[in-house]
Amino acid sequence: MLKQFSILILILFSQCTTIGFHEPKVRAGISFGDNASFRVCVLREPEVSEEEVRDLFLAWNEELSLYNLKAEPVTVNMMERPGFWGTDILIYLMTNRLTKDCDRLLYLKGRTWGDLAFEVLTLGIFAGVGLKLEVQGAVEGQSNTRGYIKAKYISTIQILFTSPKSTLIHEGYHLLGCGHQLFMKECYEKIRDVKLLLTDPERDPNFFPNITTTGKKILNRNQVLTDFNKD
Ligand SMILES: [Zn+2]
Repeated sequence: MLKQFSILILILFSQCTTIGFHEPKVRAGISFGDNASFRVCVLREPEVSEEEVRDLFLAWNEELSLYNLKAEPVTVNMMERPGFWGTDILIYLMTNRLTKDCDRLLYLKGRTWGDLAFEVLTLGIFAGVGLKLEVQGAVEGQSNTRGYIKAKYISTIQILFTSPKSTLIHEGYHLLGCGHQLFMKECYEKIRDVKLLLTDPERDPNFFPNITTTGKKILNRNQVLTDFNKD
């Protein structure tokens, strides 16, 4: 029961609108240190092509270059979706350890006929009550190292608000520990602090560290395997 409740809480907090407004002057005043990269293991559904994965990473890396950072897709594995709902995907990701080649785990969700039907349904609800039920992506809050995005959508009202690239950029900030804020200053500082952890003697030298949205330092992969996963 407690487990279900904690999943619910995590998911409520994972609902995403916008990360925050950029503040170029503030950003220019922050030192992000040397170039660094982190390895992202990618799981993709069959409808998502390797070319689309490349395009998504190009867009993400353009954004990350603001912080002298680069995301490297290291392994790209195809798999069938573990369940229909975004929550099913998050739970699946959270029960998986990061392997030694992965600093982050990213799941790219495709688009099936079932998704299409659901989009039509949520479109009706959106039009009716102005509520957008469909979630474009989410990152778990335990270690901020694993998340998913909808990598493919081409029609319906969602395209007015977002795209797979902007969703990845958004969730990509969560993967670096940023939460949501009106202005980006706090997030810039978080990214700077995460990069400073690269010199922390406690860090596993083979792991790109993180600081969760609640401020917990993640310095090695064992910390990613939380009490949640141990059940
Ligand atoms: Zn978000």
